[in-house]
Amino acid sequence: MTVHERSGRRYDAIVLGVGGMGSAACYHLARRGRRVLGVERFDVPHAMGSSHGVNRIIRLAYYEDPRYVPLLRRAYELWRELEAGFGERLLHITGSIDASEADGEVFRGALRACKEHDLPHEVLTSAELRRRYPGYRLPAEYPALFQPEGGFLVSERCIVAHVVAAQAAGAEIRARERVLGWEPVGDGVRVETDRDSYEAARLVVCAGAWIGALVPELAGLARPERQVLGWFQPNRPELFVPGRFPVFNLTVPEGRYYGFPVFGVPGFKVGRYHHRGEQVDPEAMNREPEPADEALLRAFTARYFPEAAGPTMALRACLFTNTPDEHFVLDRHPIHPQVILASPCSGHGFKFCSVIGEILADLAERGETGHDIGLFRLGRFGKGSSVAG
Ligand SMILES: Cc1cc2nc3c(=O)[nH]c(=O)nc-3n(C[C@H](O)[C@H](O)[C@H](O)COP(=O)(O)OP(=O)(O)OC[C@H]3O[C@@H](n4cnc5c(N)ncnc54)[C@H](O)[C@@H]3O)c2cc1C
Repeated sequence: MTVHERSGRRYDAIVLGVGGMGSAACYHLARRGRRVLGVERFDVPHAMGSSHGVNRIIRLAYYEDPRYVPLLRRAYELWRELEAGFGERLLHITGSIDASEADGEVFRGALRACKEHDLPHEVLTSAELRRRYPGYRLPAEYPALFQPEGGFLVSERCIVAHVVAAQAAGAEIRARERVLGWEPVGDGVRVETDRDSYEAARLVVCAGAWIGALVPELAGLARPERQVLGWFQPNRPELFVPGRFPVFNLTVPEGRYYGFPVFGVPGFKVGRYHHRGEQVDPEAMNREPEPADEALLRAFTARYFPEAAGPTMALRACLFTNTPDEHFVLDRHPIHPQVILASPCSGHGFKFCSVIGEILADLAERGETGHDIGLFRLGRFGKGSSVAG
C-alpha cells in the first residue's frame, strides 16, 4: 500500500461509512499502523442505518451455512479482545435456541452446523424447552436446538468501542460528513465529501443500505428493506431476563422471527426477518413505525411468548440490505481493485463485524485474506471478482 497525498491529507485507506463494519475496518487498519480516515455522514453511532436498536444476536450454530462457523469462532475471539480493551461488556452469553419444524431450515441447518463443527448443543422437545425456559411456548411438534455459546452483542456500544480503539491507534474519524462520490486516481482513490476532498491508496466502502448509490455495480445486488423492531413489557418479567431466556431464531407459519431477553429497553425484544417485505430507498424510508408494524410483532409474541405480550415499550425502524442469496458481499471492486466492497447484512451480519474488520484490512493491505470468503465473492452473481484466495 503506498500513501497518496494531496494538500497535506495523506491516507493509506479511507473507510466510507463508520457503522458496524466501517468502525471495525478502521480499527483493524489503524492497529496495523495504517493511516486511516473514517468518514460517516450521520453521528457515531446513530439510528438511521442497520446497527441500532440496542443489540444483535450472535450464535455459533449457523443454520444459514456451516461455512460461517470458522468466521464466527474468530469473531467471538475478536469481540472478547475488543471488550477487554474497552472495559465494558459488549458480548452477553445467554445461550441460543434455533427452532422450526424438524425438517425446517432453522432447526435442520443449526443441527448440521453443530455436527459438522462439533459444537456443543442439545436438542430439546418443545415441552423440555418450556420446562427449562418457561417463557417459550412453541408448537408441540417443534424440536429446538440449544447452543450454549449463543447470546447478543450491544451493537451501538460495539461501534463506539471499535471507534475508540481505532482512534487510540491513530485513526481519524469524521462524523457528519457525507461522501458525495469517489473516483480512481492512478492506483489510488479520491473521495469528495460535502466538506472536503481526500486521497488514499485504498477505499473501503462500508456504506450499508446506501452502498448501491455509491457503487452502481451493487445497486441491484444490495437491496435496502425496511424492518421494525418491537419491545413489549413482559407480564412475567422474571421469565425474560438474560439468565433465564436464551436468544432465539424461530420459523413458524407466520414467518421467521428472532428475539431477545429484556435488555436496555424494559421489554422483550422481537423482530421478523423481512418484516413486511418493503423494498425502500433509505433516503425516503418511513422511519416512524405504524400500527401494522406493531400488530405483526404483537400477534407473534402473543402466540409463542404469551407472558411477554404486555404493553408496548418501544418500536424502531431499521434497514436490512439484502443480496439475492442472503450471503454477504466482501470483495474487491470488479474494475478498481484498490476499492474494497463490504455489504455484509441480509439481516445477519452484525455478529461478524469484528472478523469482517480483519478481513477488510487484509483485502485493503494485500488484496487477499487467510479467511475463507469464497461464499462472499461478487463473481457468484456474474459480476466478476478480483479477490485471490
Ligand atoms: C432490525 C435488524 C435486526 C438485525 N438483527 C441482527 C442480529 O440479530 N444479528 C446479526 O448478526 N445481525 C443482525 N442484523 C444485521 C446487522 O445489523 C447488519 O448486518 C449490520 O448492522 C450492517 O452493518 P453496516 O456497517 O453494513 O451498516 P451500518 O451500520 O448501517 O453502517 C453503514 C454506514 O455507512 C454510512 N454511510 C452511508 N452512506 C454514506 C455516505 N455517503 N457518506 C458517509 N457515510 C455514509 C451510514 O450512515 C452508516 O453509518 C440486523 C439488522 C437489522 C436492521
